[in-house]
Amino acid sequence: MLGRLLGNASQRVPSLLKRVSLIMKPKVIFVLGGPGAGKGTQCSKIVEAYNYTHLSAGDLLREERGRAGSEYGQLIDTYIKEGKIVPVEITISLLRKAMEETMTKDETKSCFLIDGFPRNEDNLQGWNRVMDGKADVKFVLFFDCSNEVCINRCLERGKSSGRTDDNRESLQKRIQTYLQSTRPIIEQYEKHGKVRTVDASRSVDEVFAEVKAILDKEA
Ligand code: ADP
Ligand code: AMP
Repeated sequence: MLGRLLGNASQRVPSLLKRVSLIMKPKVIFVLGGPGAGKGTQCSKIVEAYNYTHLSAGDLLREERGRAGSEYGQLIDTYIKEGKIVPVEITISLLRKAMEETMTKDETKSCFLIDGFPRNEDNLQGWNRVMDGKADVKFVLFFDCSNEVCINRCLERGKSSGRTDDNRESLQKRIQTYLQSTRPIIEQYEKHGKVRTVDASRSVDEVFAEVKAILDKEA
């Protein structure tokens, strides 16, 4: 079933996304960091100041989980509660669709912040398989923050977010997943000089000042 989904994704990519990307190849910044590092907060600020579209893998998965008739709703729900990484076929097909829709609506919108992706080796390989040559990954914007600060921020967010994973039990698992699966991906990009690290433990405005300096220099 999942193989079929990825198959569909790779077959459809040559159609719409390839046609659109022939005109304008999408520019992508991957945004990574621990749960609660402030990825979403900073992406919102970037979108206000620059012509970027924010695509959060987590938000897209939560939206798909809630979509009436989704065949993946239950599976996504279980993975999110367990803090585990949802199979790449689902995530990539959602990301691809969101990119296509954005660029088809407005062809000047070809710069994307892809937040919470690639989170593990499977994500990375899936991206390379489906998107190689079809998007230009500029760099990884890495929000570096201690586990303790990340956990406290998520617990605080959990008071109003309604998220099923902003609780101590899910957070322990999410931090483990981040350390075991996502950090090695950041290290791989680092070896190729493709990581821009920001100290995310400071205030929102201080973090954003550093983000702006990076984007003004690089993007
Ligand atoms: P992520 O997208 O990385 O999971 P969020 O952007 O949702 O993180 O931030 C997690 C929580 O921490 C939110 O409640 C947010 O308001 C808060 N937050 C984000 N950045 C900061 C910061 N620099 N200082 C203090 N709190 C922050
Ligand atoms: P986030 O909103 O980024 O904190 O992500 C919340 C949860 O969504 C994660 O703990 C995972 O279960 C799932 N998720 C987010 N991004 C991905 C991804 N790239 N691949 C698979 N699952 C993901």
